Amino acid sequence: MSFRDYVRKVDPYVPGEQPRSSSVIKLNTNENPYPPSPEVLKAMEGVSLDSLKLYPDPDCTQLRHAIAENFGVKDDQVFVGVGTDDVLAMAFMTFFNSGKPILFPDISYAFYEVWANMLGIPYEKKPLTEEFRINAEDYAGENGGIVFPNPNAPTSILEPASFIEGILRKNRDSLVIIDEAYIDFGGESVIPLVDRYDNLLVTQTFSKSRSLAGMRIGFAIGSPELIGYMMSVRNSYNSYTMNRTALAAGVAAIQDTEYFEKTRKAVIRTRQHAVNRLRELGFTGPAPAGNFLFTAHETVPAKEIFSKLKDRGIYVRYFSKPRIDNYLRITVGTDREMEKLYEALASILQ
Ligand code: PMP
Repeated sequence: MSFRDYVRKVDPYVPGEQPRSSSVIKLNTNENPYPPSPEVLKAMEGVSLDSLKLYPDPDCTQLRHAIAENFGVKDDQVFVGVGTDDVLAMAFMTFFNSGKPILFPDISYAFYEVWANMLGIPYEKKPLTEEFRINAEDYAGENGGIVFPNPNAPTSILEPASFIEGILRKNRDSLVIIDEAYIDFGGESVIPLVDRYDNLLVTQTFSKSRSLAGMRIGFAIGSPELIGYMMSVRNSYNSYTMNRTALAAGVAAIQDTEYFEKTRKAVIRTRQHAVNRLRELGFTGPAPAGNFLFTAHETVPAKEIFSKLKDRGIYVRYFSKPRIDNYLRITVGTDREMEKLYEALASILQ
């Protein structure tokens, strides 16, 4: 036997392409087309070189406080991590240990399955309906936990808070994680429900509506009990996940609510326009609630459009997976980027 027989062999998550060239129009990984608040740069400049010789605050006190203030919860109800990916992985490790299958939709954020496989957590994927909706009844039986994004990805379909509350009521003994990565683009957050449901954990990210994908900041909000369990697991793994620059940048980003409102509304406006323009070009798809559209053309296969767009330097996302292999996921860019997209599509579809 060699060490190779004992390697943990995993199927990793495959992120969207990050092309080197900056001339590419990048509509493939749901980043924000606008830069972060200018306050972020000031805050980063405020981090002295000398301070970097010291470890950062393991409790992330200021960032947790700023997030808590923004959402009207207590500091001990906030967990922060290196993007939601880190936060969600910690939550899986902390809560999904019953041996019973956890549940998530068949079409959803692909990382859930990757973490479950890596951590040896049994799971069942519940098929979305024909219209790509989550069927609440699928989440009413015994389970080891539930996780899904709202709005869902890659469909961009939003469920109302009342729908989530229905699932919470039927799962008093299971932990339910609602991944609100895209909630700021038009949805109602269920963060206000955490005080009534001790089985609810809500995650959000700075990568989308706060334009900080490159800084890697995500957070979870839940009861102090849930957050306490997560902190203990994190501190048994890596106490210093958040670096000083990220902590400072995060505080500045969440405090600049004016900038946040301005950019998030700009994305929503561009998205509404995109729905109409794409319809005129023969595309259909569900009404989008995230900063991306999930759309299929009535005659031309998605794969073909995807590669022809790429040839023209426009990157969108294509998943060659059952049920969604005729759809494109298109991130909402700036108005200028989107005009280039419509032009390219018109020429491809001619
Ligand atoms: N959840 C969903 C549904 C996502 O699409 C993403 C972004 N790829 C994430 C979580 C992770 O975001 P981040 O780690 O950048 O916070």
